[in-house]
Amino acid sequence: MLGLMQDWPLLIHRIIDHAANNHGSQTILSRSVEGPLHTTTYADLRTNALKVAQALERHGVKYGDRAATLAWNTWRHLEVWYGLTGIGAIYHTVNPRLFPDQIAYIINHAESRLIFVDLTFVPLVEALIDKLPHVEAVIILTGSEHMPETTLENAVCYEDWIAAEDGDFAWKSFDENTAAGMCYTSGTTGNPKGVVYSHRSNVLHSMASTAPDMLGIAAADNVMPVVPMFHANGWSLAFSCPLTGGGMVMPGAGMDGASVYEMLETGKVTITAAVPTVWLMLLQYLEKEQKRPTTLKKVIIGGSACPRAMTKTFQDVYGIDVIHAWGMTEMSPLGSLCSLKPAYAGLTGDAKLDVQEKQGFAPFSVEMKITDDDGNDLPWDGKTFGRLKVRGPAISKAYFKGEGGEILDADGYFDTSDVATIDPEGYMQITDRAKDVIKSGGEWISSIDLENLAVGHPDVAEAAVIGVAHPKWDERPLLIIVRCEGADPDPASILDFMAGKIAKWWMPDAVAFVDEIPHTATGKIKKTALREQFADYRLPNTDAAE
Ligand code: ADP
Repeated sequence: MLGLMQDWPLLIHRIIDHAANNHGSQTILSRSVEGPLHTTTYADLRTNALKVAQALERHGVKYGDRAATLAWNTWRHLEVWYGLTGIGAIYHTVNPRLFPDQIAYIINHAESRLIFVDLTFVPLVEALIDKLPHVEAVIILTGSEHMPETTLENAVCYEDWIAAEDGDFAWKSFDENTAAGMCYTSGTTGNPKGVVYSHRSNVLHSMASTAPDMLGIAAADNVMPVVPMFHANGWSLAFSCPLTGGGMVMPGAGMDGASVYEMLETGKVTITAAVPTVWLMLLQYLEKEQKRPTTLKKVIIGGSACPRAMTKTFQDVYGIDVIHAWGMTEMSPLGSLCSLKPAYAGLTGDAKLDVQEKQGFAPFSVEMKITDDDGNDLPWDGKTFGRLKVRGPAISKAYFKGEGGEILDADGYFDTSDVATIDPEGYMQITDRAKDVIKSGGEWISSIDLENLAVGHPDVAEAAVIGVAHPKWDERPLLIIVRCEGADPDPASILDFMAGKIAKWWMPDAVAFVDEIPHTATGKIKKTALREQFADYRLPNTDAAE
């Protein structure tokens, strides 16, 4: 017997329709790429998205076609996402921080027919266009008064392009499993691989992720996604905010401490989200300028492990809650968030921070398990660590064009390549990426734990730990440090600070100082580059062991 409820496919345009109907005057404040602040509403955003859909159809863009975006977080980027998905075309976000060759590879692999580009990236597209045979037109996200001189033959001014339409258009209807968006993984090994989101996966994921214990967004909130829309589906905030009616504050190209602070204050932001490097810059700015955010209540930190010291500073110095989050491009992307369940709610001080170092528990629609290398389930005891595997309706079952082959196990789980523990309350903690864990004498040492601990030292700005070959133990940890400006700690003081807080055999064998730690295009520590840089490094105690 079937239920007698209406057939209402979970299509993305229903989100923007809902926002326009129920929260039509709610605002989206953006820092435009041209400079000035810009304000629009959900009602107007929907109208412009309808115009984008009309203009796309006029151009001949059809169901299933891909269009790339090389753009910051602004209202125009939102209009383009909703316009494309409203006709069954596919937004394909490209991370402009990748190497130009990788960008060309990604756009060609996706066979994107159009590129929507911010002024910032016009020179990049000019340099690449000869290598992009599928691209028919480049739509520059600006008004005619700011159109640049360009060598691009098929350059179109976005504002003129949509001004030619009247918005009298009906969204297309199609199966909810239709592709809606694409985002390529960083490709630290091999070529980047295309993750393809569907309408259904995006809608379900944003519904699940707005729950109070997850992102916890309400219509009274103003949410600033500092995390770019080109990073892991923009953490789905382009959908979660209109779905709940929360206002949006879009920071454009400004990710430095001063710019982020200005938008937090101007937009009366209550919730914000980004990777730790962004928050490091903000905290440094706040301390230097002796400023405090006045409306911010909650900061969602993920993409890399959130250092304990960062959580402590936000909470103790500024009274702002930290929600540690974990996810990945393949998961739409949120996989777990660390809000405090009743079992942990009363904790304070270090005991609370201990829990907040964990990446948290899964929202509805994500199932997790940890296994050993043979695929046997491991206990949720908070101590045993194993390969973290996930399944759910917003988790990839394959990459675009079948790259990478079969990616699910016999039970339909996707191996995240992360190593983790899960405690009896269901709180998962990432121990490491499978390839970064340090294998010492047959046991594993978590590089993340050591990094988190080291950055708690007052003279340490950033820390990275890599395994260095060791004749007896196979690998031993080397701690690489960027010192705080003006500080000059000696290695012993850092090691003394760490001693007693971790098992003795986890202690780094040596400390190296560098001016800068390299980062990937999504703000993670680039361990591959560090391993190359320290390829000839010999630990001080190796001779004795040989
Ligand atoms: P990219 O490398 O393009 O940034 P993802 O955003 O998909 O790709 O990266 C996902 C990976 O980032 C996860 O598998 C995990 O290793 C790491 N990660 C994400 N959030 C956290 C976190 N809170 N703590 C530790 N690692 C994290």
